[in-house]
Amino acid sequence: MISFVDLKVQYRSIKDEIKVALDEVLENTAFVLGPAVAKFEEKFATYCGTKHCVAVNSGTSALHLAMLAAGVKRGDEVIAPAMTFIATVSAIDYIGAKPVLVDVDPVSYCMDPSKVEAAITPRTKAIMPVHLYGQSADMDPILDITRRRNLIVIEDAAQAHGAEYKGRRCGSMGDIGGFSFYPGKNLGAYGEGGAVVTNRDDFAETVRMLRDWGQEKKGVHVLKAFNYRMEGFQGAVLGVKMNHIEAWTEGRRRAAAIYNRLLRDVPGIVLPAEMPYARHVYHVYGIFVRNREAVARKLQEAGIGTNVHYPNPIHLQPCFAELGHKRGDFPNAERLADEELSLPMYPELTDGQVEQVSAALALATIP
Ligand SMILES: *Cc1c(COP(=O)(O)O)cnc(C)c1O
Repeated sequence: MISFVDLKVQYRSIKDEIKVALDEVLENTAFVLGPAVAKFEEKFATYCGTKHCVAVNSGTSALHLAMLAAGVKRGDEVIAPAMTFIATVSAIDYIGAKPVLVDVDPVSYCMDPSKVEAAITPRTKAIMPVHLYGQSADMDPILDITRRRNLIVIEDAAQAHGAEYKGRRCGSMGDIGGFSFYPGKNLGAYGEGGAVVTNRDDFAETVRMLRDWGQEKKGVHVLKAFNYRMEGFQGAVLGVKMNHIEAWTEGRRRAAAIYNRLLRDVPGIVLPAEMPYARHVYHVYGIFVRNREAVARKLQEAGIGTNVHYPNPIHLQPCFAELGHKRGDFPNAERLADEELSLPMYPELTDGQVEQVSAALALATIP
């Protein structure tokens, strides 16, 4: 059996370090925020190349607070890609702002910058690129538009820990960015977690207050706010994992390179492209295949797990029917939804396992 993702192999490789770090939280009884979380925030800010990191209790909370800190208000419009995880657009909706969707680029799978300008109206406040599957959106044209139009850029970097665009880290290029540490993400907590990163002192200060009941000092609540604090255990786990994240990213890139080599000549599939500007961190290794369900079934029979990211684009989700879209509105997002198949991808995949998946896929795609 080769599963789509295996969190156990990684845990076994860092078990001793994890237990020491968790024990420290227990001894300190620092269960919420505290020194382990503060230490992780410092490490993660350095890693992202940003001045600040504020840890919270999920990626969704991170995006919600990023949006609030950046001044997005009820009635504003925020431009987002039609293919992403539902949380991107839900964070916009939490504010009472309106998500305005644009199609994705057929090669990078991220927001198509050439579609952005036409989506701007006098109500547009922010643009929210998503670094989908672990590859950066094409940021220069997006940043250029936002500078000219005086808009804010909020990066959804939930799948892109350590991913780069022309040498700059995802999360650090816009005004503010959000990360998720959901267990299956490239940097995963042992529970829920997220973080906001930014170079802006004022945004970081606001997010710090918003995650902890808007307190300026103890007992003085200057903002109506939330309980979005990160737990001490999660900070401790993430702090340990920061010592390994680069090696794990290289493990993912190695597996992707083997897939690329072995699958290059398999007919009927399209492989993911690493854009010339990008360091892809392969949160997802997604191929296009026409008869996806049949291929996935054959792989399953061969003992290989796969997944789909995501079977429905945002504009066809029942909960966002109010946006008034129909099939055909964003063809590239729809093609991803219909044909994308995610192959097993995690840092500890061995060369032999990648070879086994590739051989099984070559067989499974024969009609
Ligand atoms: C995982 C994810 C989120 C939400 O993160 P949670 O930690 O699950 O709340 C947001 N956006 C994208 C693109 C994601 O993949």
